[in-house]
Amino acid sequence: MCGIVGYIGDRDCVPIIIEGLKRLEYRGYDSAGIAVLSDGTKEVIKTKGKVSELEAEVAKQGLAGKMGIGHTRWATHGVPNQLNAHPHFNQEKTLFLIHNGIIENYSELKNKLIKKGYSFYSETDSEVVVNLIDRYIKKGRDLAAAVKYALNKIDGTYGLAVMYENEPDKIVVARKGSPLVLGIGEGEYYIASDVNALIAYTQHVVYLNDDEIAEITKDSFTVRTITDEEIQHEILKVEMTEDEITKSGYPHFMLKEIMEQPLSIENSMRGRFITDEGIVKLGGLIGYEDRIARSKRIILSACGTSWHAALVGEYMLEEFTGIPVEVEYASEFRYRNPIVGEDDTVFFISQSGETADTLAAMREAKRKGALALGICNVVGSSIARESEAGVYIHAGPEIGVASTKAFTSQLVVLSLITILIARKRNMDFEIGVELIENLKALPQKVEEILKLNDEIEKIAEHYVNSNNFLYLGRGYNFPVALEGALKLKEISYIHAEGYPAAEMKHGPIALIDENMPTVFIAPKDAVYDKILSNIEEVKARKGKIIAIAHVDDTRIDELVDHVIKIPECHYLFQPILNVIPLQILAYHIAVKKGLNVDQPRNLAKSVTVE
Ligand code: GLU
Repeated sequence: MCGIVGYIGDRDCVPIIIEGLKRLEYRGYDSAGIAVLSDGTKEVIKTKGKVSELEAEVAKQGLAGKMGIGHTRWATHGVPNQLNAHPHFNQEKTLFLIHNGIIENYSELKNKLIKKGYSFYSETDSEVVVNLIDRYIKKGRDLAAAVKYALNKIDGTYGLAVMYENEPDKIVVARKGSPLVLGIGEGEYYIASDVNALIAYTQHVVYLNDDEIAEITKDSFTVRTITDEEIQHEILKVEMTEDEITKSGYPHFMLKEIMEQPLSIENSMRGRFITDEGIVKLGGLIGYEDRIARSKRIILSACGTSWHAALVGEYMLEEFTGIPVEVEYASEFRYRNPIVGEDDTVFFISQSGETADTLAAMREAKRKGALALGICNVVGSSIARESEAGVYIHAGPEIGVASTKAFTSQLVVLSLITILIARKRNMDFEIGVELIENLKALPQKVEEILKLNDEIEKIAEHYVNSNNFLYLGRGYNFPVALEGALKLKEISYIHAEGYPAAEMKHGPIALIDENMPTVFIAPKDAVYDKILSNIEEVKARKGKIIAIAHVDDTRIDELVDHVIKIPECHYLFQPILNVIPLQILAYHIAVKKGLNVDQPRNLAKSVTVE
């Protein structure tokens, strides 16, 4: 989950690394560090807190050099402090390492190394790796060989980079389970855990695969597997602009990403309809459509917000394709020996395409013969590369830790898959056309909702001091209630729960009093009257109520304290619209509480450790 950046070439690496770390700070931000090794300079600087602290310290010490590595940490082993920050080094301070991931057998390795005379200054698992490499170097191996031998002893996950004083012209990097990408320049190379850190410098990249080790000098790179097989990698071109990864005048990435949704939703569907025929075409699934349509079961597996998207997908796919659908937390699926096989299609949904549990669940499903498909945002990510086929959501880079535009784009793509498969089964032409027309109308309706920003901000003022929140919805809007609650707790630290509205009477109603706000998602759909009854029940107990309702709904006005009125659309796509006011509400409550919505405490963007 941390960020890794490195540089080797003729320029000063320090500003490149600091800038890269800032771009990756959303991945982890409890501490940061940099090591530089070049022309007689050998320096490590580490600070607790944000990259800006590191930047200030680096400037104070006037650090410069032509080869270096840097890291932002998201602590797994050991508290976030200066000592535990990366880079880690051996006793003689000749070997420097940054690591993303978890070394599962670190304590066993640490004990062995202690017996051999090694001592440790940090509580991290990562420090074991640098000492293990040191041990192989002391046995006469060169750096690349020592890394290979060390990695053969390690259980767990890593994206790592190492520099060694006695081989001052190279960086050795390796990956297993954590992303790592090489940026190719002219007479210079970059390394990073995410292309965002590189695109200011180069668009040409190589994505390393698991179990690969690369040796990088300023003029060349070679990649070998951990079993010593040489690998030729294709150099890929990244289509991403700098504007996409800056705030473009917005105070936070989260707000920028909320406001981008008319475009991101449009981009998720662009070029994917044959409207006259009422069908959808998804380039990534060509050749697989019939197998999906024939599946006995569809499973949607994901974590966090993507899991909420999967729940909406379950309702859509089951209703319109008639295929039984299950939704699985990837972290459970991977370990519970699921019954899954050749008759099943499993979609793995992950914004980053690097979510450790989702990736592992996908490998498990593949092993068992299921058709494993990806739904990802990040092009070239691990899930995108390892799945048999898949669909990109094309939402553009999402930097805010709380997912917003990726969620709505995931819903668009699940809608497209639903139409694609349902039309192969029993959905008739007219319904196909009607659904497509409804999808095409969404961006304009999202524009309308975004105009309510100021109105929602005023509503937020009433709830800054609330300690709890309840979100209720029925049918397609039950997952929206879950997502609304998740948005609020992620960034405002207010305890919030989402429930199917009818379940309220089985527990949560006990919490209702004049201090407990409840958000009802109440569009005029088949269960509208039932939702109104639930609203009455909360009102009878003096609960405060915020409702999301349709523009022409006047009945709801007298029942609730605040109502946010949004446009109507086909009930299948209503979750895409309904979630947007909830994102905006969570955003304003958190901002009014003075919290950093882009980097909420304890969270990180892509969860690349399990
Ligand atoms: N496990 C390592 C640590 O706690 C690396 C964590 C990370 O990926 O940032 O320091």
